[in-house]
Order: sequence, then structure tokens, then C-alpha cells
Amino acid sequence: MSASEAQPTPRSVDAVVVGAGFSGMYLLHQLREQGLSVVVFEAGTDVGGTWYWNRYPGARVDVESLAYSYSFSPDLEQEYQWEERYPTQPEILKYARHVADRFDLRRDIVFRTRVTAATWEEDAGTWLVRTEHGDAVNARFFVMATGCLSASKMPEIPGLESFKGATYHTAHWPHEGVDFTGKRVALIGTGSSGVQSIPVIAEQAADLTVFQRTPAYSLPARNRPLRPDEIAERKASYRAYRQAQRESAAGIPVTVPTKSALEVSDAERDVIYEAAWESGSLVNLLSTFTDLATDQAANDTAKRWIHRKIHEIVKDPEVADDLCPDYPVGTKRPCLDTGYYETWNRPDVHLVNLRRTPLVEITEKGVRTAEREYEADIIVYATGFDAMTGALTNVDIRGRDGVSLKETWQAGPRTYLGLGSAGFPNMFMITGPGSPSVLSNMVVSIEQHVDWVAGVIRHLDTEGLRTIEATPQAQDDWVAHVNEIAGYTLYPKANSWYMGANVPGKPRVFMPYAGGVGAYRKRCDEVAAKGYEGFALTV
Ligand code: FAD
Ligand code: NAP
Repeated sequence: MSASEAQPTPRSVDAVVVGAGFSGMYLLHQLREQGLSVVVFEAGTDVGGTWYWNRYPGARVDVESLAYSYSFSPDLEQEYQWEERYPTQPEILKYARHVADRFDLRRDIVFRTRVTAATWEEDAGTWLVRTEHGDAVNARFFVMATGCLSASKMPEIPGLESFKGATYHTAHWPHEGVDFTGKRVALIGTGSSGVQSIPVIAEQAADLTVFQRTPAYSLPARNRPLRPDEIAERKASYRAYRQAQRESAAGIPVTVPTKSALEVSDAERDVIYEAAWESGSLVNLLSTFTDLATDQAANDTAKRWIHRKIHEIVKDPEVADDLCPDYPVGTKRPCLDTGYYETWNRPDVHLVNLRRTPLVEITEKGVRTAEREYEADIIVYATGFDAMTGALTNVDIRGRDGVSLKETWQAGPRTYLGLGSAGFPNMFMITGPGSPSVLSNMVVSIEQHVDWVAGVIRHLDTEGLRTIEATPQAQDDWVAHVNEIAGYTLYPKANSWYMGANVPGKPRVFMPYAGGVGAYRKRCDEVAAKGYEGFALTV
């Protein structure tokens, strides 16, 4: 069945899942295997989520393909042939489509359909889920598999509508692509999407001006085609590798560091940082020493080292200075690039440091800063997302007594394990706030959550139970624990989207769980083993 064929929407199912990215696809498969009837609503016209929407030039994964892939089907692992170490968006989308076909997922996915509201109906003990097309579906279980990075965000700049040229957001890239040939391009934003797209756009455009508010730390990806021998080796040892992923801190097995950055000589540290830089792996850089995430002085050694690297590559010292971040390494999501710093040596690429000359408005002709107007034919917004909570609070979710999730979370998201929220029975979130999610290889975290949710539903059905809901006490304790762990780290020192700092008015709360994938999984397994401790279960 093709993605574009209309699906009839059922009136009543066991489970409604929102989103057909990696989370929703796997959840659909798991729940169907358990004999449940499921409908998935997806706003896009095909599966893939992130990899369906983010089609900007240069879009790639920054976790290796042989690690950023499903583990639930050993046959799938063996038969799929990844081509590159860090595949492009089209290759990952091709993989998602392959999975959809192989497991016949599309027959239960309703595409082009945004879920707008979901209400817990106390008497019936079911959710009533409504879509933008006016459909209404009853379900015993309601799962938001809506992604941490799917609610894109335009910047709060006056005059956005006045620009007469073409405007694009990296997360809503046209399927037919954009031809930059001969064009003057303005690009706003230097997070991962900006850092990946800038070198590629620069190759094509007549002239590229980048408007940077905060520089990123970026590491060269050293992407390359995968060698047949390394594919064969991974395929031969996949089970052990997957287990190592699940037990690791970030869903990517690495050599665990044993030394502080402050206990080695400058020369020794340089060698270690150089090796990480050469490896083209973010997780290698972040696990060079035991204390980069927790000790300012230790982190400063990495910061100074990367600043030096930037100055070695970027020839204009003033531009190099502007590209050097001042926040601790790793406290905003670092980037993996292909030719990013080298691109600043091109005569047709210009950097505008918005810290010195703030952005004032978008005009008919381009972008105006406090200093001058920059004319452009195309503006690219690489301005990111209302991360982690945006896709959840965009839906009018009402739990017990009509209480709204959005209002309940006004001071910041409150969850138990990032899986459920008190007052919202039989509702689950995949990689919700309060879980490792964005601090990890997300496919690993997605699979863990899906397996856990499928397990709890199986438990309810086996035991003849009707509802499950986080208790307020367990939730309070978990939120306190998430905050306590974040408090040991340097994360709160940066104005990051992890902290909600990129959205004006959003409460400043560190949203993901920084205790590590392995420890978190253990905790979730213990909760399940103790009869879902911290959840109230009713008949
Ligand atoms: P998504 O892929 O975001 O899918 C959610 C889906 O829900 C979307 O298709 C959306 O349309 C749909 N949806 C949302 N709200 C509604 C609604 N109300 N009604 C109907 N449908 C709705 N992670 C990594 O681990 N490594 C990486 O290298 C990496 N690179 C990334 C690169 C980019 C450009 C971005 C944006 C994210 C990246 N991520 C990466 C994170 C990535 O989001 C996850 O790895 C993963 O793809 C998330 O899958 P998901 O299914 O949970 O969410
Ligand atoms: P992002 O990291 O939030 O970056 C957005 C950029 O836009 C930031 O530089 C931000 O500056 C800037 N910006 C936002 N509003 C602005 C304004 N009003 N004026 C000027 N500048 C403004 O978003 P992203 O680059 O799309 O990436 C989001 C996340 O998606 C990443 O962190 C990562 O997790 C994932 N991702 C991964 C990859 C990958 O390599 N695999 C690629 C893309 C995305 P401030 O920093 O000052 O707010």
C-alpha cells in the first residue's frame, strides 16, 4: 500500500499512537504482535518522522548507521545494507520505508492527519482522540510518539512575513529540494542543522551570509563508505553489540574513561583530544575524561583545545574568535560536520555575530541587524525546535477531571520516568521529558520505551487490569531525582534547548535524564519487576 493512499479511520481501537517516526513505527509493530488493534496518526505523508521532514542539504545522522538502527529484528539487521558510516537523510528515510514495507506497517497508519486533542473519558475508561479532519477515535491506550524534535520553531523576529524572496525552515524542507545556484542566501542559526547545511549551501550559492547568535562546538565527522569487512564483523556480533549499547551511558558503547582531565599533563591531554578529534565521533570526545560533564576546570581544558583547533583551521582570526563558544563543551548539543570550519575560509561566506550586532528585523529585501541591512534572495531558518515538550503540548491533552497537560506542565514538564504523567491514565510518551532521550542514541532509547510500554500493556491485559497511572509521589520523587542528577553536571550552565532556553517564556528546566541509558533502563526494569512500582493500577 502506498503512503499516499487514504486510510479509513476506525472508530474504536485498543491503542492510538501519534507519530510514525522510529518510535511510532516500532510501537505499532510491537502492539500488533501482541494482538492489539492499533491506529497511528501521522501529520506527514510517509513514515520516518525526523528523516521525513528534515531534508535540508547536508542532513545526516551523527551516530553511526550500524548503531543508529533498530535491534528488534535480527533478520532486519542482517538483511539491511547501510552504505555510509554517517548516512544522509535520504538513506535513513529509505531504511524507515523499508521497515514499513517489511513489517507491513502502513495499513494501520493514517497519514496527512494531525491529532489535535485527546480527552480521558472517565466513565468509559478510554481516550477520545480527535484529528484535524474531525475524526474521533476511542482507545484504551493513548501513546504520544511525537518526537523530541518535531515541533519546529521560527525565531521571534519582527517582519518575518515581509520578506519577498523565498523562505525555508530546515525542518520543513521542500521535497523537490532548493536550487541555490546564483542566489544570495541568508541563513539564521548555527546549531546542528545550520552546521550541516552551511558547507553544502556555500558550495552552490553565489554568496552566503550566516547570522550566528551562539556558536556551536563541532567535530569533523570523517564520514566514509562502510567497508564490507566492518559490516560483516558487526553483523556477526550484533547481539553482543546491542547488549553493550543498552548498558552504555549514551546508547553507544565506548571505552569508559578512568582519568580526570586535570590529572594528566598538557601533552598527554593533547594526544587524547587529538585522537578523539580524528575519530570523528562525538561520544569519543565527550568520554575522553571522567569529569568533562561535571567539572568546570576539566571542561575548560577541552574548550581551550577546541578553540585552538578552530583557530588552526579558520584563517581570519576575528571570524575564528566569533566561532569559539564560551559555554562548557557538551552542555549544548555538539555537532558533527563535514567541512564546517573550512567553509569560513571561502570568500563568498560571511559571518554576522549577532552578539555584537543584534538582529533587528526581517525586511522585504533581507535581514537587518543593528548595523545594516543584508539583502538576500533566500532566507534559511535553521532555528530549531520547541524541543521535548512542544509536540506534546501542541495537542490539547486532557486527563482526569479535564485537566490539561499543557497547563499542568506550565512550570516545566512533570513525568514519572519520562513515560507517564500523574492525572493522565493509560497515556504514555515515547522518550518523554525525564528520560535519557536526546542525551542518547535515540533509537536505543526509543526501543527501550516501546518495549516497556508494550510490556505494561501486556501486564494489564494478562492481569485483567484496566488502568495504569503514575502516582503523584513517584512523579515528584522522579522529577527531584532528574533535577538532582542535572545539578551534578554543567548542563544547566548553557542556554540550551535542553533547558528550554531557546523558547521565550518556556520555564528553565533541564528536561532530559542525565543519569545514563544503562542505569535508567535498570530502573525501569526494576519498576516493572516490582509490579509497576510508583504507578497505580486499577481493575
Ligand atoms: P520523530 O522522528 O520526530 O517522529 C515524530 C512524528 O510525529 C513526526 O513524523 C511528526 O510529524 C509526528 N507528529 C507530531 N505531532 C503530531 C500530531 N499532533 N499529529 C500527528 N502526527 C504528529 N538522534 C540521534 O540519536 N542521532 C542523530 O544523529 C540524530 N540526528 C537528528 C537530526 C535531526 C535533523 C533531527 C531533527 C533530530 C535528530 N535526532 C538524532 C533525533 C531524532 O529525532 C531521533 O533520533 C528519532 O528519529 C526520533 O524518532 P521519533 O519517532 O521519536 O520522533
Ligand atoms: P538548534 O540546535 O536549536 O539550533 C538553532 C539555532 O538557531 C541556534 O544557533 C540558535 O541560537 C539559533 N536561533 C534560534 N532563534 C534565533 C533567533 N531569534 N535569532 C538568532 N538565532 C536564533 O536547532 P537544530 O540545529 O535544528 O538542531 C536541533 C537538534 O536536532 C540538535 O541539537 C540535535 O539534537 C538534532 N540534530 C542533529 C543533527 C545531526 O547531526 N544528526 C542535525 C540536526 C539536528 P541560540 O543557540 O543562541 O539559541
